[in-house]
Amino acid sequence: MLVHADPTHSYQHKQAIMEKRLSIFAILVCCFANAFAQQQEHCATKRLSTGSIPAFTPKPNISERAVVAIPVVVHIVWNSSEENISEEQIQSQIEVLNQDYNAENEQISSVPAIFKPAIADVDFQFCLASKDPNGNPTNGITRTQTSNNIGIGGTAAIHHTSQGGHDAWPPEKYLNIWVAKFAGEIGGVASFPGEGPADEQGVEVNYKQFGTIGTAATPPYHLGRTCTHEIGHYFNLEHFWGPNINS
Ligand SMILES: [Zn+2]
Repeated sequence: MLVHADPTHSYQHKQAIMEKRLSIFAILVCCFANAFAQQQEHCATKRLSTGSIPAFTPKPNISERAVVAIPVVVHIVWNSSEENISEEQIQSQIEVLNQDYNAENEQISSVPAIFKPAIADVDFQFCLASKDPNGNPTNGITRTQTSNNIGIGGTAAIHHTSQGGHDAWPPEKYLNIWVAKFAGEIGGVASFPGEGPADEQGVEVNYKQFGTIGTAATPPYHLGRTCTHEIGHYFNLEHFWGPNINS
């Protein structure tokens, strides 16, 4: 069964399904943690609240094996033309997400033995949104030139048109991904479910690490895994080395 990419489909339903399928995290952290060890570049995601990971309310009417389509909007917030990455590069990231969340990536055989039992096919299908919040046709990409030439990634401003970024599309209907330059060497950051301002929910990724081609073609962050990792946080996954430790 395929749940159509209708942005009106409740994200709470999708998160309920995700709760049952999150063992894929082993794959995500293995791919990304190695890169962390080699470079002093980090994920900036931190859980704001303390205590245990909040549980989602199970939705008994949802099949565990249903494929869930997730409409994605990618907000490109750029200053230099290099940061205004191509649609092909954006699509290359979508392809990686679908490989990683469906246990189809080429590196799966290299997952350490200790994590192999946790490998799972999450059955998520990411797709660029075909309708905008007003119901009009869209390619699922917004492009905003900003005057911020230092780096708007990782700042609250990126989430707001009035501050040089771009407003989120309703986060209960879309997965919002902002792509921009970061001031430091941060690869990405994400909001955990229910944390932070409602209109800033989503993930942010350094334009040098988004996708597999163009500005992201240079190793070690050329596999699209930064976005895979951050979306894991967005769906309530912690770092396996513990919360609030970024190295
Ligand atoms: Zn992280």
